[in-house]
Amino acid sequence: MVEQLKCLIQFQILEDKKSRLIRSCEDTPRRIAELLKEFEQFEAEYRSRKAEYEHAKKMHRSLEQEISDLENKIRRSRERMNEVKTNKEYQAILKEIDDLKKEITRKEDGTLEFMDRIESLSRELRDSEVEVGRRKKKLEEDKNALEVEKEKLSGRLEHIEALQRKVREKMDPEILKRSEFLLKKQAGIAVAAVENGVCKVCNLNIPPQKFIELQRDETIHQCPHCHRFIYWPGHEAYCVHDEDLENL
Ligand SMILES: [Zn+2]
Repeated sequence: MVEQLKCLIQFQILEDKKSRLIRSCEDTPRRIAELLKEFEQFEAEYRSRKAEYEHAKKMHRSLEQEISDLENKIRRSRERMNEVKTNKEYQAILKEIDDLKKEITRKEDGTLEFMDRIESLSRELRDSEVEVGRRKKKLEEDKNALEVEKEKLSGRLEHIEALQRKVREKMDPEILKRSEFLLKKQAGIAVAAVENGVCKVCNLNIPPQKFIELQRDETIHQCPHCHRFIYWPGHEAYCVHDEDLENL
């Protein structure tokens, strides 16, 4: 086993874990924002229903006021009847009262419609209010759960970084430098397995002679195509398990 190659593989596995953890951590604010948006949409619908309800109540009140004004007018017209001198004037007042009554009937129909609307909206609002409360509570719970999860991920990330520091200490500075360069330039992958003579990352064949040398496991090789460090997984020593990483 080439010790440095094993270190490289361990370093890579930790690097992969680190990247996944960082992505998950970065995902938390997006998930919280989504939950918040969903809640706000529901709440906005509730508010617009409530505004509709208030408007209907206002319209109902103003119609009732108009009806009461019309009734007063009728009362005044009736009083004037006692003072009229001619039949023509009398007939005119009767016509006036009749028109006022018709208007009252129209407005009363309007108030009935508003009353129906107010009643159904008030039922809807009662249900929505409960639902808004329920959703608000759920939002807080989900947000807290995500925060807790993020804390855990951060803790895990720190742990992985500590393990990576341990591996780094064992690594030859020149190899570490090359590995970090590859991580940056080659999509975060500095080490590749070679199986049946094929680099498993860039999927290109490596020369047969090089593959034989790789299997001999005497020195560190790089893929002639993608320049990543390569290893042959046929060597048990390079199959790194999680428990090996915990006991570095
Ligand atoms: Zn390659």
